[in-house]
Amino acid sequence: MSLQLLALAGDGIGPEITAATLQLLAAAQRKFKLDIVVTTDDVGVASHRKHGHTIPDSLVARARAADGVILGPCDTYAYPPVDQGGVNPSMTLRRQMDLYANIRPSRAVPGVDCLTPNMDLVIVRENTEGFYADRNMFAGGGEFMPTPDVAIAMRKITREGSRRVARAACEIARTRGRKLLIVSKANVLKLSDGLFRREAEAVAAEYKDLTVAHELVDAMASLLVRTPGAFDVIVTTNMFGDILSNQASELAGGLGLAGSLNAGDAHAMAQASHGSAPDIAGKGIANPTSLMLSVAMLLDWLGQRHARAELRQAGAAIDAVLREVLKSRGNRTSDLGGPLGTAAFADLVRAALEQ
Ligand code: NAD
Repeated sequence: MSLQLLALAGDGIGPEITAATLQLLAAAQRKFKLDIVVTTDDVGVASHRKHGHTIPDSLVARARAADGVILGPCDTYAYPPVDQGGVNPSMTLRRQMDLYANIRPSRAVPGVDCLTPNMDLVIVRENTEGFYADRNMFAGGGEFMPTPDVAIAMRKITREGSRRVARAACEIARTRGRKLLIVSKANVLKLSDGLFRREAEAVAAEYKDLTVAHELVDAMASLLVRTPGAFDVIVTTNMFGDILSNQASELAGGLGLAGSLNAGDAHAMAQASHGSAPDIAGKGIANPTSLMLSVAMLLDWLGQRHARAELRQAGAAIDAVLREVLKSRGNRTSDLGGPLGTAAFADLVRAALEQ
């Protein structure tokens, strides 16, 4: 049976990088004879214009019914208030599809200038709880102001949330260098990060083939700069993972190269790590690499889930072709010092894949 993918272009540079990515996916479908049907729809500002909501319930239902979702960046700053239909699509889909592991690799690309040429790590970030006020409550928000001068944010950490993301990280470590680093602030947040650390260590102890260690998050920020080549798989809570993964991607060459997959047990969603880049939207200069790499990760996830080798081969081929193309400065977009616009870069990558 054909696998169904739902592609939602999002805001800002979203339509440009999504078009470039779907063109590459179509080439991969032809080359690897992938039995995939891709449908598209609006999300974000375009959806609000049509339906009065950035992500209507009917769209969430379609995403849940699909085998995988491709989500472009969403300009949440530009949305109207929630009661006027301005809801964060990324948060909604992560919650509604229970995408508890945000998998963010940072790997230097040969030839591309970067501060850490030997970096090759994966940060697995808990994605459904933590400090994120829009996803850690059953009802209401996790931020509130008891008086006009006092703001409080709640942070939720659960035993099960910690265990399942740790398990996802251990499974990834098994496919790589077999090293897992648990990152927390358990020395200060003794109850919440204490729970996360304890549960992650308990899960990791079941994986006798892994070397497991723990690091505090503030030390981790330094170590990423000091010994970037020392890390394999890092598992941490939501906000720490968000911040550390951006730091790692920037060190490894830039956010434009940062692929990311949101994965749960039943669903997965490819989503670039960067935002909607309103400053360059519509100029045709955005780098689509991050979303392309995210789709390669989605193909790999689908291949594992459905035991279809051709999907995994297609994912690996997209990854390899991008790394090869990016070696030459003349093949790059302007954020990486190259001369190409989005469409010319996409044509080049597609042609390289078709060879
Ligand atoms: P941003 O990531 O959109 O942009 C930061 C800088 O990086 C900008 O200078 C931008 O031009 C550049 N940049 C980002 N992606 C690029 C690409 N593919 N090619 C070339 N240059 C690129 O961050 P921001 O400006 O802080 O946020 C803009 C909007 O995006 C906000 O509404 C924010 O909430 C949202 N956002 C969404 C996501 C998401 O949907 N996953 C993630 C982060 C931010």
